Amino acid sequence: MRDPLHWMPVRVKLPLLVAGVCLLAFGVGGTIVSSSARNAIEAEILRRLDAECRSHAEALDHALTLLTRRAQDFASDGYIRDRLERVGQPEGAAEANAAVALTELADYLARNKLPLVAAFRDLAVLDAGGKVLVAVHAPKEAVAAMAPAFASADELPSHSGLREPDRVIDAQHVVIAVPIRDLAGTRELGRLLAFVSFDGWLAAAATRIGGAVGADPAAPGAPPTAAALHLVDPAGRRANVEVPVSAPPRRAPGTRPLLARALRLEINGWTLHSEVDAATALAPVTGLQSRFLLVGAVLAALSGALLFFPMRFLVAPLAALQRASIRIAEGDLAARVPVESSDETGAMATAFNSMAEALGDRARRIAEAGAALARSKRDLVIERDRLNAVIASMRDALIVVGPAGDVVLRNAAAAPLLPALLDPARRPALVSHHRCSRSDGAAPLDGGVKGCAACLLHPGAGSRSCLVDVGGATFEVHAVPVAAAVDEPPGRLLVARDVTERIEQDERQIHHERLSALGEVAAVMAHELNNPLAAICLFQQLLDGALPADSPHKEAVERIGRNAETCRRTIRELLDYTTGASSEVGEVALHSALEAAARFVRPLCKRAQIDVELSLADADPVVIGDEVQVRQLFVNLVMNALQAIASGGRGGRVTLASRVDGGRAEVDVVDDGPGVPASAQPRLFQPFFTTKPRGEGTGLGLATARRIAELHGGRLELQETRPGRTVFRASFRVAVPAGRPIGVAP
Ligand code: ADP
Repeated sequence: MRDPLHWMPVRVKLPLLVAGVCLLAFGVGGTIVSSSARNAIEAEILRRLDAECRSHAEALDHALTLLTRRAQDFASDGYIRDRLERVGQPEGAAEANAAVALTELADYLARNKLPLVAAFRDLAVLDAGGKVLVAVHAPKEAVAAMAPAFASADELPSHSGLREPDRVIDAQHVVIAVPIRDLAGTRELGRLLAFVSFDGWLAAAATRIGGAVGADPAAPGAPPTAAALHLVDPAGRRANVEVPVSAPPRRAPGTRPLLARALRLEINGWTLHSEVDAATALAPVTGLQSRFLLVGAVLAALSGALLFFPMRFLVAPLAALQRASIRIAEGDLAARVPVESSDETGAMATAFNSMAEALGDRARRIAEAGAALARSKRDLVIERDRLNAVIASMRDALIVVGPAGDVVLRNAAAAPLLPALLDPARRPALVSHHRCSRSDGAAPLDGGVKGCAACLLHPGAGSRSCLVDVGGATFEVHAVPVAAAVDEPPGRLLVARDVTERIEQDERQIHHERLSALGEVAAVMAHELNNPLAAICLFQQLLDGALPADSPHKEAVERIGRNAETCRRTIRELLDYTTGASSEVGEVALHSALEAAARFVRPLCKRAQIDVELSLADADPVVIGDEVQVRQLFVNLVMNALQAIASGGRGGRVTLASRVDGGRAEVDVVDDGPGVPASAQPRLFQPFFTTKPRGEGTGLGLATARRIAELHGGRLELQETRPGRTVFRASFRVAVPAGRPIGVAP
């Protein structure tokens, strides 16, 4: 969980926290305690108010009952009843007696009765009809005004409501009405009204009130409650009760009593209300809560003062640590913190200083290593530039291929080799010089010839070598595994050298060696056979001339002559092939040589129904060499085409087409014969290889033609062969005589 006050410094947060805890604890505790105390005190006050109410009501009830009984005692007085009876006698003779009786009654009441009860302020007598007969002190009219209420009262004795001071009595009072009956007790003569002053009533109840409160068993010895008492009559009029034992509470202006109890008086249905001002009664409790808060505040202040020392010795070192850390983070590795104690903060400061020391050492070593690294990098850059210069200036092609087949490094000499090696679509351009020559002796990939590129570039393979032809040049390619980058699987390093000239030179060398061997044989054969053959020819001619035309030996003699001629021709051609003799070097117009060859073979072609066509380039290329030999080359090719077409037993066409391309001239000899059999193709240019019947072919035609081409700086290849189309291509180096366009005859 994240600190919600994370943005506040500890030196502020900690005192605040302690002060907050104190205030909260004492505030909440004070509230709980004061509310509990308040509830308890309220309950106690209400209980006491109840008890007070009850005791006061009993006292008031009792006092009024006693006063009522005294009034009844007065009404049952015989003298009063007698006089009243007399007053009510019929008019006439006794009228004087009635008046006397009234006077005696009034006098009797004033002298003998009214002084007996201090609470009685006045007495009056009504007759049965409610007429005021006697009023001791009050004027009769004033009593007469209230008389109807008492005359009509059904229940007797009856009590009036609270009466305000009036002409009868100048203080609040209550009137008790009791019946006055005749001496026989059968007839109501009238009513006695006793005017009881309120003070008198209360005074009568006072002694009992004090006793009742003091005798409360629920709270023995408890102080009297400072409650206000007042009485309310059924009409809602209110009178305060002055009780000597309980001083009325001082009520704050604007406040209203909160705690109150009420009890009904049995005798007259009045209600006694007892009230206590809540604010005054609960003042000690209210003070309690604020006292709690005050104690909390004092404790918070004390805690803050006490925390000063831990803050000074804990937070200040931490702040110093923080400042030093920031300085180190900004690169000032000399930042240290003072060690002022041997406690945990001191240990932390020591550890920090050690760490800063170690960091400084490490930074120094890193700076030295960085400087060494920079020097090494400079050396490496120089080395790399040197290496790049070497690689760029190499005549050999150098290619570094990554594990994914991407070219990481290559030099200019690699340009002709790259497409055939790396572009799968152009790989057919790469032709193996011979069948696979994998150095590890494993089986060739992808069927051999076409798998050379994949084999050389195979990731994870060992070192491999291959001899391939690309675009007319022969390359010797060596491939070895090499790491193109650190933490990467190895790629391939290919070094290729153009060995075309070396191969050709080797081939020429071998060829010459063979030729010289063959030439020696041919010379010996010619030397040994020429004379016998000359003799055979001479004698064959003599024999042929001597035989008659119809001689049966004629055919045999002619065959001897033909075979002897074949032998002589073979020996001559062999000598021509091996020695290349009789060449007269000069400028040879290629087109002229072609036309001469065509002219030479045309009669033969005509017999065999074969057309010979020329398709010559615009410019007539000139080569340096022997015209006879050049013509011989084309004659040999056309004769072979002729024989091939004729072997099919039907006519055909031979085309001689020339083309000039830069410093080279090419001549294609195309025929629509059956094509060269696949089995014959590898040995086509070997001397004495022939597929023709014995006596018809010597097997020296193509070998001689290729030799002539090579003697003229050119080549002879079987370009294409299939049924219906065979192409032999002879190429020559075109001469560049001064003052003439390159390779073009004048
Ligand atoms: P020869 O003609 O005496 O047989 P070559 O050296 O001239 O000797 O030819 C060698 C072989 O090449 C021929 O025997 C023939 O099988 C084949 N050959 C040469 N030219 C063609 C061609 N135009 N069409 C088919 N096969 C050919």
